[in-house]
Amino acid sequence: MVHPNMQADYPGIEPAVRDFVSSGVRKMLIGGQWVPAASGKTFTTVDPASEGALAEVAEGDKEDVDRAVRAAREAFEHGPWRLMTASERGRAIWKLADLIEAHTEEFAQLETLDNGKPITISRAVDVPLVVDHFRYYAGWATKIEGETIPVSTPGQYVLNYTLREPIGVVGQIIPWNFPLLMAAWKLGAALACGNTVVLKPAEQTPLTALRLGALFDEAGFPPGVVNIVTGFGETAGAAIAAHPDIDKVAFTGSTEVGHEIMRAAAGNLKRVSLELGGKSPNIVFADADLEAAAVGAATAIYFNHGQCCAAGSRLFVEEKAYDTVVPRLIEFSEKIKLGPGMDPSTEMGPLVSSTQFERVTGYLAAGKDAGAKAATGGGRPAGLDRGYFVAPTVFTDVHADMKIVREEIFGPVVCAVPFKNPEDVAKAGNDSEYGLAAAVWTRDIGKAHRMASILRAGTVWINTYNQFDAASPFGGYKKSGFGREMGKAALEMYTQVKSVWVNLGGHETNGG
Ligand code: NAP
Ligand code: MG
Repeated sequence: MVHPNMQADYPGIEPAVRDFVSSGVRKMLIGGQWVPAASGKTFTTVDPASEGALAEVAEGDKEDVDRAVRAAREAFEHGPWRLMTASERGRAIWKLADLIEAHTEEFAQLETLDNGKPITISRAVDVPLVVDHFRYYAGWATKIEGETIPVSTPGQYVLNYTLREPIGVVGQIIPWNFPLLMAAWKLGAALACGNTVVLKPAEQTPLTALRLGALFDEAGFPPGVVNIVTGFGETAGAAIAAHPDIDKVAFTGSTEVGHEIMRAAAGNLKRVSLELGGKSPNIVFADADLEAAAVGAATAIYFNHGQCCAAGSRLFVEEKAYDTVVPRLIEFSEKIKLGPGMDPSTEMGPLVSSTQFERVTGYLAAGKDAGAKAATGGGRPAGLDRGYFVAPTVFTDVHADMKIVREEIFGPVVCAVPFKNPEDVAKAGNDSEYGLAAAVWTRDIGKAHRMASILRAGTVWINTYNQFDAASPFGGYKKSGFGREMGKAALEMYTQVKSVWVNLGGHETNGG
């Protein structure tokens, strides 16, 4: 049930934020203009802490995606964007970062209201990472280089070199767990490389992307370079994935939708990159710093309320240390302060939506039905009867074939499993269709690196968890997807290589 305008009740809301959520319909950005959906339809976003209506947003569909693609195509082929130098592109991205930073509190509040995460996290993690991400890719704009290739053509002077060129119009579909940060991950590299973009935020959390949209003009991006279409996945998202004039689609979200994106992209053989789900093993050996590992295990699963693709949702603890680590994890879990994200003392907010609440509590029931024991948590926390809150939950007595062990829950739910030796845990850790991340806690440096080599995951953390940096590549093995975001690696997803051959004429001489 949706209660009207609960967001006004939180103290400390900035007037600009109140205005942004309450002043009529939030329109879409197409070709530099703020426009309603062609259909005139709108949808309501919800504050997950109060279940109150938050803002009214344009519900874009295929026709709006068509308009946005035309604007992006025009900007790519004929607009001033194409003639801008790499240095000018870099400066625009840097300026965008400065503008976001100057509006940190506004972005942080909007993110917290829309997504539910604690305001302290939005301020200290989400927004600063976004700023840093754009600054990192601002630097890359002037450093995207081709190569000269020593080709073997007997008796001829030939020059062969490569150019790294933008791909063209890129469709980007992003999830709700880190709304602004996922927009930044997608936009930074695409823009540094000179592409134009049609971005679709998640229906649950469109607000910060729309607020970001208002900064592109001031930052110096010509109209049509970034277009933002809000709407639903099944309509607007599907139209992006299938669009015949989009050259590449980049997606972050569920593995299930990842399959659909690939099928839809086949129509015009779009380039595809997918950052999908995970069921990441977090492995604690008995020789580790067990206090650090237990606290690390808590943050591995509970950061962002478990709504992280890289969440450490399978905790493997060496038998000898199990009775030290798991009780400490439970103790930590029970001290976490849940509440509305706008309360500065809140450490964990609600899940993002009623759908996600149903999904996660469905897994809690499935786990118990299958015989797993919720050693702590296991449902809605006492005292919070409104909002999509789920208590931090540790399942013990689990088996490798249980749904809660195999499937991505995407909530604050961890399965704890004892293991005997490195061979067993390597096998168990890799026993998943996913391969996004993994972690190893040990003081044995050889064992740490051996495990890093054996684990089939795109990221391995050693004696740490959830480390991210704009400079370090991130992406999946197996059904966690393909393509790498961040770092130099992301440039490969947003450029294509052209090989240029030049007959230099003349004949081979030895120069003497
Ligand atoms: P989802 O459906 O995969 O949503 C991700 C994005 O894809 C959203 O923008 C969504 O739009 C869009 N989308 C949905 N169906 C589409 C389609 N047929 N064609 C094109 N785009 C489409 O994820 P969800 O339903 O929000 O969450 C379900 C589960 O996915 C979670 O419980 C979690 O396990 C996983 N998930 C993973 C990540 C990650 O970071 N890897 C992030 C979020 C969720 P709408 O939001 O408008 O529907
Ligand atoms: Mg959805």
